[in-house]
Amino acid sequence: MSLGEFELIRQFFDRGPARRALLGIGDDAALLAPVPAGSVMAVSTDMLIEGRHFFAGADPRRLGHKALAVNLSDLAAMGAQPRAFTLALALPAADEAWLAAFRQGLFALADRFDCELVGGDTTRGPLTLSISVFGEVPADAALRRDAAQPGDDVWVSGALGAAAWAVERRRQAAGDAGQSREGAGSSGVAGSLGRAAAPDAADLRLDCPEPRVALGLALRHLARAAIDVSDGLLADLGHILERSRVGAELHWPDVPQAAELAPLPEPRRQRLALAGGDDYELLFTAAPENRIAIEALGRRLGLPLARIGAIVAGNGLAVLDARSRRLEIEHGGFDHFR
Ligand code: ADP
Ligand code: MG
Repeated sequence: MSLGEFELIRQFFDRGPARRALLGIGDDAALLAPVPAGSVMAVSTDMLIEGRHFFAGADPRRLGHKALAVNLSDLAAMGAQPRAFTLALALPAADEAWLAAFRQGLFALADRFDCELVGGDTTRGPLTLSISVFGEVPADAALRRDAAQPGDDVWVSGALGAAAWAVERRRQAAGDAGQSREGAGSSGVAGSLGRAAAPDAADLRLDCPEPRVALGLALRHLARAAIDVSDGLLADLGHILERSRVGAELHWPDVPQAAELAPLPEPRRQRLALAGGDDYELLFTAAPENRIAIEALGRRLGLPLARIGAIVAGNGLAVLDARSRRLEIEHGGFDHFR
């Protein structure tokens, strides 16, 4: 690298003495103060790889945002307050313009949540962004996947399907242009962060997801189980059902669909909203006595919260249409090794 490794870290990632950590970038390890008594530390890691999670040439500012956003989304889904993160970065070259833009997207989001970069690792290699986040949550309030109970309502934030729709559109454009998709999987995220001509709202949903941190924090004592919708509503609800050993019934007419889907035929809207990934909304279960409080919370946050079904005893996931007929939706979610 023309720019030395240490110069690169100093110039782009070290922002001086740590503010929240006891010790940040520059030593062999960062030092974090313990969490308050009764709380636990929530830790999560998510990795983005060029050709697998985003196209070559993806906008570096959006990449910086997304790499951290998907991690903050995991903390949100636990009801955890973000505190710090580390960044492991493999770069093919020390491209200063790329680094400056990446850093902007990364720190703009980090600063909004007062989440401090405290360390990392930098190496030459195929473009790979791996972030670990550290957050805190009262031990008895963490929103675990194994906590859903029969009789709970099933809720989801925001609207679903725009990100998956943007992926499909981008794949088509790339295919039409004869662009190589080698290495890109069939994941909902494989086509993300490509070079779209004029990014619209759906592109932004895909490239710049908004981690629902405030919602996760507010759900600490309202929700029982929660997960973020990264693989698709049905697949992610499936994870809650499996961990909690319960089943669920969803009511398709109540599932909030992204406005972009409106012109599409219903089967395609069903596939995008129920099985499309990358929306990073929160899916959660809660006791029916919390309905009014949850509706009030949605109004307070300016974020629609939709009640889309119920947890039932037994197992299995049924999606019902307006006349209570079962819909057959191909889902399964994405498995990198399948
Ligand atoms: P070591 O050899 O002890 O692992 P490094 O030379 O890898 O240390 O890193 C030097 C310092 O810079 C460490 O404090 C490390 O946490 C930090 N660091 C390295 N890469 C990054 C990065 N991409 N972002 C933030 N901090 C980094
Ligand atoms: Mg190192």
